[in-house]
Amino acid sequence: MAARILDGKTFAAELRARVADGASALQAAHGITPGLAVVLVGEDPASQVYVRSKGKMTREVGMNSFERRLAADTSETDLLALIGRLNSDPAVHGILVQLPLPGHIDEARVINAISPEKDVDGFTILNAGRLATGQEAMVPCTPLGCLMLLRDHHGSLSGLEAVVIGRSNIVGKPMAQLLLRDNCTVTIAHSRSRDLPAIVRRSDIVVAAVGRPEMVEGDWIKPGATVIDVGINRIEKPEGGTRLVGDVDFASASQVAGAITPVPGGVGPMTIACLLANTLTACCRANGLPEPEGLTA
Ligand code: NDP
Repeated sequence: MAARILDGKTFAAELRARVADGASALQAAHGITPGLAVVLVGEDPASQVYVRSKGKMTREVGMNSFERRLAADTSETDLLALIGRLNSDPAVHGILVQLPLPGHIDEARVINAISPEKDVDGFTILNAGRLATGQEAMVPCTPLGCLMLLRDHHGSLSGLEAVVIGRSNIVGKPMAQLLLRDNCTVTIAHSRSRDLPAIVRRSDIVVAAVGRPEMVEGDWIKPGATVIDVGINRIEKPEGGTRLVGDVDFASASQVAGAITPVPGGVGPMTIACLLANTLTACCRANGLPEPEGLTA
């Protein structure tokens, strides 16, 4: 039987609509407009596209978008000074530094200079630590989006066996923390894991965040399992041109899984919607106001 498709595009559109409602309610009741600052250093074409689309979506949900574009040869000191100004600007509730940064800049130093309360990517050490120790944190957007899709499909995740394939700081590790927080029994797999197919076969939830096209095969999947495919890989088509695929072989896995996210149209759209949700959450927290329900982990 074919799996239920977890439609991230539709879910993300609904989430953005809820964020827009929250932002307009803040404006109406308190005269506050949430603001997201995006900092781009250099002219990387892919980063420019991401920054433009983040700005557009931020404005579409009724928030202020502050774009700060700096030359590729900007010094780390100047970038840190800009972060400092954004940290103390009351109109800015979220700060995102578009990665990767040019090689002469220490990425970790810059990220950790962001005020944890404005760290809407959830990449600072403080937010990672808060998440790991079960405290209120800003949660990284991609894992947060995955968690929302999983909760929407399952209701409770309690007691389920989950495997997260990939242990990066931005996806794999925070994903595992979130699943643990929701009472899953979590395995984190990586490039040195032995017999990955066997680990996947015992899992009710599979989150693949690897960056290897169609690596997870259908016969690895436990019948009825839920598969969340974070991977975004561009591959050549036999007839020429390219197409996007995930880390999971969708054709075979969707015959065995109970539910699965497609690529594109699954996790991808959730990431930016969660960025906007985090900005609204940060704005509410900064002003001591209640947060709309269902926007955080
Ligand atoms: P990283 O490259 O930082 O991490 C990849 C992880 O996969 C590593 O932990 C690595 O293990 C593990 N890995 C590599 N090869 C294997 C293997 N053969 N078997 C098991 N594990 C393996 O990637 P990211 O976490 O940043 O991203 C993962 C994927 O998700 C990429 O395709 C990326 O494009 C996509 N992505 C999508 C987003 C979205 O919005 N949908 C957002 C962010 C990422 P080890 O640690 O041992 O090297």
